[in-house]
Amino acid sequence: MENDSNQINSGSHSINIGSGNSVKNSNLHVGDVHNYGDTNAPPVATVDRVQSKAVTVLGQPVTAGWLIVSGGVGFIGSLASIVGLWQHLSFWFVLLLSFTMFCLIVGIALVRNRFVRIPYLPFNIEADRSGRMFISRIEGNCPLCDGKLKLRDIGPKDHKVTYARCTRNPDHMWKFDFTVLDEPEG
Ligand SMILES: [Zn+2]
Repeated sequence: MENDSNQINSGSHSINIGSGNSVKNSNLHVGDVHNYGDTNAPPVATVDRVQSKAVTVLGQPVTAGWLIVSGGVGFIGSLASIVGLWQHLSFWFVLLLSFTMFCLIVGIALVRNRFVRIPYLPFNIEADRSGRMFISRIEGNCPLCDGKLKLRDIGPKDHKVTYARCTRNPDHMWKFDFTVLDEPEG
């Protein structure tokens, strides 16, 4: 067997790699290749929207833009009134101010994400592409036991992450991505 400088040569029953790119008299064996599939992969949890209802006021659909406008107007109006009537600030007034702020914040979040979690409440606020607002409930079945999966917000106050968590065993939980959901309807 010739052995020119362009070849890597190791033994007579070996692989010769060089200008000729030849494999001569040899078995090319690269370990044991097995494909075990994904039997060891963790089970996939699926959650879905089990209920959704369009939010309407006097038969008209409420939209994210409507929330922002009415929330903003109400907020500025409330602030102006507070400045004028500081001594007469009542509980109801503070409640109204909080409500307008809530509308404003939810409206902005809906425009941005089309999905808003309200911590500790069993439902979510969503919007479809046209901005119509929906109240929805999202649940699933635990793939590890017969518990139900519900959305929970876990983590430090300013950095909560939403998980789909099992009602029977809190160790059964999966990170929840709201962008996998279809458009809400109802
Ligand atoms: Zn479970």
